Amino acid sequence: NPTDVPGLPPGVPEFLVDSGIEALYPPQAAAVDAGVTEGDSLVASVPTASGKTLVAELAMLSSVHRGGTALYVVPLRALASEKKAEFERWADFDVEVGISTGNYESSEEWLSSRDIVVATSEKVDSLVRNGAPWIDDLTCVVADEVHLVDDPNRGPTLEVTLAKLRRINPDLQVVALSATVDNADEVADWLDAELVKSDWRPVDLRTGVHYGDAITFDDGSQREVPVGRGERPTAALVDDALDDGGSSLVFVNSRRNAEAAARRQADVTDRHLTDDERDELAALADEVASVSETETSEDLAAVVEKGAAFHHAGLSAEHRSLVEDAFRDRLLKAICATPTLAAGVNTPSRRVIVRDWRRYDGEFGGMKPLDVLEVHQMFGRAGRPGLDPYGEAVLLAKDHDTMDELFDRYVHADPEPVGSKLAREPAMRTHLLATVASGFARTREGLLDFLDRTLYAAQSEETARLESVVDSVIEYLVANDFVERNGDEITATNLGHTVSRLYLDPMSAAEIVDGLRDADDPTPLGLYHLVCRTPDMYQLYLKSGDRETYTELCYERETELLGRVPSEFEDVRFEEWLSALKTAKLLEDWASEVDEDRITERYGVGPGDLRGKVDTAEWLLGAAERLAVELELDSVVAVREAKKRVEDGVREELLDLTGVRSVGRKRARRLFEAGVESRSDLREAEKSVVLGALRGRERTAERILENAGRQDPSMDDVSAAETAVDDGD
Ligand code: ADP
Repeated sequence: NPTDVPGLPPGVPEFLVDSGIEALYPPQAAAVDAGVTEGDSLVASVPTASGKTLVAELAMLSSVHRGGTALYVVPLRALASEKKAEFERWADFDVEVGISTGNYESSEEWLSSRDIVVATSEKVDSLVRNGAPWIDDLTCVVADEVHLVDDPNRGPTLEVTLAKLRRINPDLQVVALSATVDNADEVADWLDAELVKSDWRPVDLRTGVHYGDAITFDDGSQREVPVGRGERPTAALVDDALDDGGSSLVFVNSRRNAEAAARRQADVTDRHLTDDERDELAALADEVASVSETETSEDLAAVVEKGAAFHHAGLSAEHRSLVEDAFRDRLLKAICATPTLAAGVNTPSRRVIVRDWRRYDGEFGGMKPLDVLEVHQMFGRAGRPGLDPYGEAVLLAKDHDTMDELFDRYVHADPEPVGSKLAREPAMRTHLLATVASGFARTREGLLDFLDRTLYAAQSEETARLESVVDSVIEYLVANDFVERNGDEITATNLGHTVSRLYLDPMSAAEIVDGLRDADDPTPLGLYHLVCRTPDMYQLYLKSGDRETYTELCYERETELLGRVPSEFEDVRFEEWLSALKTAKLLEDWASEVDEDRITERYGVGPGDLRGKVDTAEWLLGAAERLAVELELDSVVAVREAKKRVEDGVREELLDLTGVRSVGRKRARRLFEAGVESRSDLREAEKSVVLGALRGRERTAERILENAGRQDPSMDDVSAAETAVDDGD
């Protein structure tokens, strides 16, 4: 019973009862028994949707009540604002919630006035690196989805961050929330925490595989769900759930698939709507469409009107919450989602359909089966407490063999154990440098001692291996001038401090520094190639024929490339050099105003990939600029310009115009061609000329003139006849 929980601020138990929490769920009660509201550390390894968040809230509220400060670490930036909104219900108890996202390089001192701070682990890591003082005052830290320590890219940061926070305050209470994993006891040992491990769920779960005309469940029972001719199994399953009044959540493997599937499911849900629902959905669709003037808005509105939706990381926060709320209110009948929804967002559904159990993996180089853990988290979204008698989670099989495989692989399987990925070289390089730079360790022994607090050390048998990894990383950092050794003492150089604060892999920094030292006046292509060579950039693959094309380009423009071209006999290095060149050429095309469609076609990438490359290049060039400043190199100006061009996707002559808000690459080019070549031209130009270049869009023109600092931006005095609207694209 909430009223029996010790340590909570007065009034909180009654508030919980009023908001429908009349009794604690068994894992919650076990957590309270383990002392979670009395400052004791805890690992809670329980299924999705069985009330982990409340465990965290009880811990944080009691810690704040004792005069402390709590930190809630989320795995995705997108979840931070959701959690903040959730915790704001404690405002009546004088608990102030803050959120820390954004710029990596600030210490955000204002956060010290908050009682609960929500942040990603990357953000917390950088706050520690930048010496944010309020970090010292933390009394309770919650790590949400702690099983993600297993993630090769982001896991090490979470692991090291927890180790650092515990080092700063040895009495820190750590509450780690995890999906059910095999070796939760190891995680608990590492964190010196009590373990609550449970399979309990608020609603029963049946899992199974659909094949042919039926779902076969784990207990051997079957439910007939025939698939009509020309019908897709997913549609049949959504239809069947709706016949019983149940909603469906369909998991697919990409944004594009989510949108396409939603369009198909909309035709199914449409058949089940009442007249009232139709009216409500029409209103909701209007609201969705008015969020932004984008294609996504329109596409989403079009399916929402028929009772379906898509959900992926590309949706704005407003779209997401409109969709999630309407699904919870049972107005929307089906959501087609990428797995981001399984992580953290509370949207239970009668039926969960895991349509795609493989996903494209760049590092793997093909379609890779999802982890059991991930699929079980999707399963966990099945069943709405108090509404459904049970939840159903279904995989799809095309043939009998696949059905057997899916039963073995997911239905009857236990999730994988989680393991530290800290031994991976980029992670070790980055984190050892950061540990030295932020003063956490000053000697080899100090580093080893610090690493001893990580999950990696807790899990590895041989300390000898750890020592040899550390020694080779120290050698590397010394050789590249990031740290200095003075007898036993190891300290970061100025360059090392800068690299650590920039959040770069030291190997990327070393490559960039070498390249910049090699050139006084590098060209954009040379700089793009340089940053594309670093381990922080995912390069494009060479397709058949590409080797010849880019070998030729490599020799044609050899003088522009920074550093020595590897010999063609150094096969692997030469191949990488060419992949980087292909990626650099894509960036050069973008910065030369080649059309987006042309680029995606020419390089065989999606618009999202192009965006991703541009963002990464912008970040790396920003870092390169800082390094050039630090080392007082002549290339600073060239780097800055190459960065601005890739940021805006324009040639040099348009940079002044694209500096004006609301002027993108296309508008800038049209203005330029109409003779309006700069920001100051915008302030002086004939309004009709500006309006013509902007295709007669008056509101846009007014906004742009205002942004350019014009005194009289109004277009009211321009008559339509004066405006020559050019209709070509
Ligand atoms: P998890 O974090 O484990 O995935 P959540 O914390 O999102 O699960 O909880 C799922 C839902 O269960 C939430 O809507 C929450 O309000 C509700 N809930 C949690 N604990 C209780 C309880 N003791 N009684 C009733 N509802 C609860």
